[in-house]
This record gives sequence, structure tokens and C-alpha cells, in this order.
Amino acid sequence: MSDRSPSEIAREAFKQLSIKRLAPTPENYQALYHEVAGTLAPAHFPFDKLRQIATALPAKNPGQQKQCGLLESAISQRSWVGVQNALVGYAGFGMVGSSAASDSGFGVLGSSASQGNPALTPEFMEQIARLIEHTLPALGTDDPRFLEQAHELLAYLRSVDSELPRAKTMLANFTHRLSFTSEDQAEIKTTLLQLLHLVFTNIADLCIDDQWLKGQIDALMLASTPPLSLRRLDDVQRRLVDVIAKQADAKSRAFEAQMQMRQLLAAFVDRLSLMGESSGIYQTKIEECARQIEQATSIEELGPVLQNALSATRSMAHDNQLSRDQLQAMREKTTQAEAEISKLHLELDRVSAQARHDPLTGALNRRGLDEAIQREISNAERKGTPLCLALLDIDNFKKLNDDMGHAGGDAALTHLAHVTRESLRPQDTLARFGGEEFVIVLPDTLLEAGVNALTRLQRELTKNFFLRENHKVLITFSAGVAQLASQESGMDCVKRADQAMYLAKRTGKNRVLAG
Ligand code: GH3
Ligand code: MG
Ligand code: MG
Repeated sequence: MSDRSPSEIAREAFKQLSIKRLAPTPENYQALYHEVAGTLAPAHFPFDKLRQIATALPAKNPGQQKQCGLLESAISQRSWVGVQNALVGYAGFGMVGSSAASDSGFGVLGSSASQGNPALTPEFMEQIARLIEHTLPALGTDDPRFLEQAHELLAYLRSVDSELPRAKTMLANFTHRLSFTSEDQAEIKTTLLQLLHLVFTNIADLCIDDQWLKGQIDALMLASTPPLSLRRLDDVQRRLVDVIAKQADAKSRAFEAQMQMRQLLAAFVDRLSLMGESSGIYQTKIEECARQIEQATSIEELGPVLQNALSATRSMAHDNQLSRDQLQAMREKTTQAEAEISKLHLELDRVSAQARHDPLTGALNRRGLDEAIQREISNAERKGTPLCLALLDIDNFKKLNDDMGHAGGDAALTHLAHVTRESLRPQDTLARFGGEEFVIVLPDTLLEAGVNALTRLQRELTKNFFLRENHKVLITFSAGVAQLASQESGMDCVKRADQAMYLAKRTGKNRVLAG
């Protein structure tokens, strides 16, 4: 940097201008001044070019006119910041009424913009905010991330310095999530109604024993305890269908056994009255004999009378023996029928309260899974080891059912359970979570190892084809794996695995994602 005074530098710059025979323009003078002073020339400001652009810009509405004015003044002040603000503001007014321009998505929502375009006033943004606010209750509270996103958006729409591009991105993200959430809510509603319908139909059918109702009521309680989720409702619905089918079967068998008892009792009463009848005849005969004996005058007359009495007694004894045998047989039958009825009742109780295993696949059922998770969480906490939970859902199972029939679908479920058990370590647990969904409990497993275990299972399924009528059927699944966080409940962890599984479905299926 030069130590000369500014006037000396100015004089020297003029001298250089003439020595170098340069045109005496402000730009040339400025460049030489900085050369002499040894300072850095500021970046060249294309004053004329910018003016040209400013003049070429159409100013069709008041907003645009205002921004053009601001641009002119920023150019005269050589202010790059001013030029930028004016152009950004101008683009915002260019958007309205033109979809091509709106895609560029620039604009300012501040007070200066709102003066020019009534569509972008804070009042309008408030209206959008209120619309979102009023929609929220209908969408439930099950998805905390969605609610958080909604509140962030509301706050941003209502803030004084909100900017259109950011508001637009936030609205787009919100709309994307909203589409999933509202779809889910609609489906939840339909499934709930179907479920209620099912319960009402069933309650009407159940009448013999209160215990029969217990299973249904438990399931209903479970379904109506928030937070509601589609998969839980779906699962309860399937469980109810299963229980109802089994109950209907057991109930009809119990009814048959009761009918048999009733018939036996009727026969018993018949027999008793017959006995009464035959003893009545016997009595009459014996009375007759007694009368003849009284009236007998000779020993010869007594012979046939005694003979009659003897044969009447023999016939009576024979009848008695017959009745005793028949009654004995009836008693045995009654005992058998009673045993059958109490066995059926036990079976009903078992079905209603749900055992720990799924009868089709042999995997644990929901109740068994709850216990297994509790057990493994205690173990993991005690030993300080990691625990992973994985949730897998067979891909396109509905189609598999359609193609091969329900029995084929059942066989595929059994096959999957079999291959899974073969591929897992002995300490891992397989449970059927719902129709074609399984949960795998992986003790002493870190997240990455959990994902690897599920990926290995995918490979095993491609090697072990499911064979149906000599056709090789490839079963694939989508899965999510989550590692239990400290203080996290088992079901919350399953929920995270479930969300990862959903994402795996939505991003193309046949994949395993970490939750
Ligand atoms: P996605 O890939 O998205 O999971 O589609 P999907 O067809 O597998 O899933 P969706 O939930 O639409 O259908 C699941 C089907 O599984 C519907 C139901 O009829 C069937 N299902 C549920 N439980 C059983 C069962 O025990 N046996 C059989 N065979 N089918 C079942
Ligand atoms: Mg499913
Ligand atoms: Mg499926």
C-alpha cells in the first residue's frame, strides 16, 4: 500500500492516464488510481448492462412496478444487495397467474410484497394456516412426526418474515405426509366399522356361557385402546374371525352333546315309568294271587295260584334286570356326554383366551410374543447386551392367495416359518404378529447384525423354494429391524421396526431396512 496522500495519488493517476494514452473514462481512472495507490480495485459494477436489464423488465402490475423502481435505485447506488433483493421481489410478483413462473418458486411474503399482490397477503397465509389447523383433528394423533411437521408449518406461515420458497417446500413436504396419513385414517375408520360389525354379529350368536364372550371382549378392549393403528386393528379382526369360526364349530358340537344328554334323560324317564307300570301289573297280579289264596279251600287250588305268583315274580325280576342294565348303559353314556361337554368348554376357554402358539405355523402368537419380548428385555437389561426386533411382512401375499387358494397361502406361511426357524440361531424367537406378518426377537444382536440376519433369511428363501403342485414359488418379504433403545418398551421398538418395514414396502419391497 502506498504512503502517498490521496491528492498525490490522484495527480499521479492523471499522469499515467496521459502517459498510457488511455481514454479518460471513470473506469480507466479508477483502475489507475488503485494501481498507483497499491490498493485493490472493487469488482467491476456493470452499471450500463444492469440499467439495460432494468429497462427491459416488464412492469405489468403495481408489485412489479415497485420492484423495478427499487432495482433502478439499487443500480444507481451500485448496491449488489439492493439489486438482488429487487430481483427476488420482482420474481415473486411474476409468479402469480403464471404456472410456469410459479414453479420457480421465488417471492417474498413480507409487507412490501403483500401490498402488490393480494393473493400473498398475511391474511391469506393465515387462512391456509387455519385450514391446516382445522384438518388436524380428523387425522388423529398417532403420528407424532406428522403433528410436529404441521405445527412447524403453522408457525412458519404465521411468522412475519416467512419467505415463499421455504413456505412452498414446507407445504409440499406436509402435503406428501398428509396424503399417507389421511389414507391411513380412512382405512382405520373402515376397518373399525367392520370390526364393530363383526363383534355385534358375534355377540348375538353367543349365548350359552359368559366365558365365551371373554375372548371377544378382550380383543375388542385391545382394539379400542389408543393409539390405534391399522395393523393392530387388522390383527384383532383376523383374530376375531379365527375365534368366531372355532367357537361356532365347538358350540355346535357342544349343542349336539347337550341334545344327546336330553335324549338320554327322556329315555331314562320313559324307563322309569315303564318300571312303574310293570311293578303296578306285578302288584295287581300278586294281589289277585293273595285273594285266590284266601278263598282257596283245598291244597290243589293253591298249586296254580302259586304258579301264577311265581311267574309274575320272575317276569318282574326279569323286567327289573332289563331296566337295571339299560339304566346302567344310560348312566355310562351320560357320563361320557358330560365329559365331552366339559372338554368342549375347556377347549372354548382355551380358544377364547388364546394359547401361546399359532396353530398354523407353530410360531408364537401375540400373547406368546409379548411374554418372549418381556423376557428378552429383562435378560438384555440384566446382562447389558443389545436386543433387536425385526418385523417382516410377506410381499404380495394377497396375490399368492388368489393364485394358489387360501390353503396354498397357508402352506406358504408354514414354509416361511419353517425356513426362518432353520435360518435363525436357536436363541432367536419367531412369532406370528398378524396374518402374513412375523416378528423375530434377536437377543444379543446389534442393529447391523440384525439387518444381516434378515438379509440372510431373504437369501435362504431364494434357495429354499416353496413347492406347490410341482411349481417353484418364490416368497419374498419386506422387513424392518430396530434395536431396543434404553428405556424403550418392546412394543415401541416393534413399532419402529414396523415403520422401517413400511418404508421398505414403499420403496419397492423385497428389502430389509434398519429402523
Ligand atoms: P404387501 O406386499 O403390500 O404386503 O401386500 P399383501 O398382498 O401381502 O398385503 P395385504 O395386507 O393387502 O394382504 C394380506 C393378505 O393376507 C390378506 C389376507 O387375506 C391374507 N391372509 C391373512 N392371514 C392369512 C392366513 O392365515 N392364511 C392365508 N392363506 N391368507 C391370509
Ligand atoms: Mg400385511
Ligand atoms: Mg404383505
